[in-house]
Amino acid sequence: MKVNNRFAAGAASVLAMTAGLATGQAALAQSEENAWFQAGQAEIEAKLARQPITGTAKNVIIFLADGNGVATNYAARIFQGQQKGGYGDDNVMHKESLPYLALSKTYNTNAQTPDSAGTAVAFMSGIKTKSGVIGVDETLRRGECADVEAATIPSIGDFAAESGRSVGIVSTARVTHATPSAVYANAADRDYETDVDQPEDCAVPDIAAQLMENMESGTVDLVLGGGRRNFVPAEVEDPEGASGRRGDGHNMWQEATDAGYQMAWDNETFAALALDHSAPVLGLFESSHMAYEHDRDNEPSIQEMTEAAITYLANNEEGYFLLVEGGRVDHANHDGNAYRSMTDGVAFDEAVAKAVEMTNQEDTLIVVTADHGHAMAFNGYCGRGSPIEGLCLSIDNNGEKHLDDPEIAADGKPYTAIGYLNGTGSIVTEQVDGTYFGTRPMLTQEEATDPDYIQQAMLPQSAESHSPVDVAIYASGPWAHLFDGTVEQNYIYHVMRKAFEGE
Ligand SMILES: [Zn+2]
Repeated sequence: MKVNNRFAAGAASVLAMTAGLATGQAALAQSEENAWFQAGQAEIEAKLARQPITGTAKNVIIFLADGNGVATNYAARIFQGQQKGGYGDDNVMHKESLPYLALSKTYNTNAQTPDSAGTAVAFMSGIKTKSGVIGVDETLRRGECADVEAATIPSIGDFAAESGRSVGIVSTARVTHATPSAVYANAADRDYETDVDQPEDCAVPDIAAQLMENMESGTVDLVLGGGRRNFVPAEVEDPEGASGRRGDGHNMWQEATDAGYQMAWDNETFAALALDHSAPVLGLFESSHMAYEHDRDNEPSIQEMTEAAITYLANNEEGYFLLVEGGRVDHANHDGNAYRSMTDGVAFDEAVAKAVEMTNQEDTLIVVTADHGHAMAFNGYCGRGSPIEGLCLSIDNNGEKHLDDPEIAADGKPYTAIGYLNGTGSIVTEQVDGTYFGTRPMLTQEEATDPDYIQQAMLPQSAESHSPVDVAIYASGPWAHLFDGTVEQNYIYHVMRKAFEGE
């Protein structure tokens, strides 16, 4: 083994002083037996063996965990590791084992704190734009349908379809929600999901109608997610008995069924889908968003949907583009419920693992990222193995694992490892006289580890907010090595396009 001489000399002299060792050689030998030292050396070897892949990508898969900033990602990593029986912090998530990494700057052209629409346009279409708009550039005045035509920009999905590839969309949110709609729609506002959501004089089809147009024209081939209500008229019940939302009487669900699409709405119909690419696939498993992983019942997991999507899309010899969105990591954070953000984050990671297993990195670029972060923050100083969803437990100065006693704040009360800067869990509450006053309730480990627990927050808000902090991009496959350093979010599109085009 080669060792940097300066390091060796420095380490030797420090150890010689502190431990009274006679020679540098002895000090070095001792560190070589240390497991951390060996792991560091092994990582050097792995990095040196890494070879960039520079062929053309047949397939590109982008995994997007909505709201999964580095803080939320950290929480999910610890949670996943603790579920496996470890302390958690040394856990490596599947996505974290991909070879390349960059940091993505997520702001919108008019917003320091971004939203999921403006950010989706960045990675789907290669430009930054305003907060809240879909498939359009920043010249558009938000909400102005008349501006859409001139501001419209194509997406990587359009690019994939034009090159003969198939296009698939998987999301645990409504498929007309901000992230998935950026693949196929151009809209003056992300909220224009159905006709009743748009201004009456809006001449642009609503987002659900645009999805159906894209499926009809063959630009989008497979859609799995939530949001049936936006495809069904208000006076009609969907297959699970929920009413639709459309005001124009347009029953798109029925039309797709009549046109011979493969349709699914629960586990049974999902299992019966023909994945041979003989017909478009439309699986919508909830009236609105799909359930959180923790609450999931009679609907497929994000991993199962990813597996079905890849099986279907791989029938196209020309390749495919697939978006997989873990849409509800974001929603749980907005609710101030760290537990569900972590269980959805773990489910998302299992979907990544499935895609890695089913594809070949020589011909498939896999990108895993988030659109933006959340106002999640961490307290200290917790001992190793403190349950990440629960109380911060004290450090054992004579061992590794935490002590059983919780850390106590200056107000004499314990606190959780995770907190939020704002949200419904605020410790500042409205008093009978209309003023606000803050005091923390007493908290037990049993309360803090309940899946429904809302973490304590500082500012009172009806929903916890996004954060503008950078998010990570993990990648493998053709041109994945172009993910390096701190980059603008719209750069992600350009790497995906480069991979599709090859040299
Ligand atoms: Zn959000």
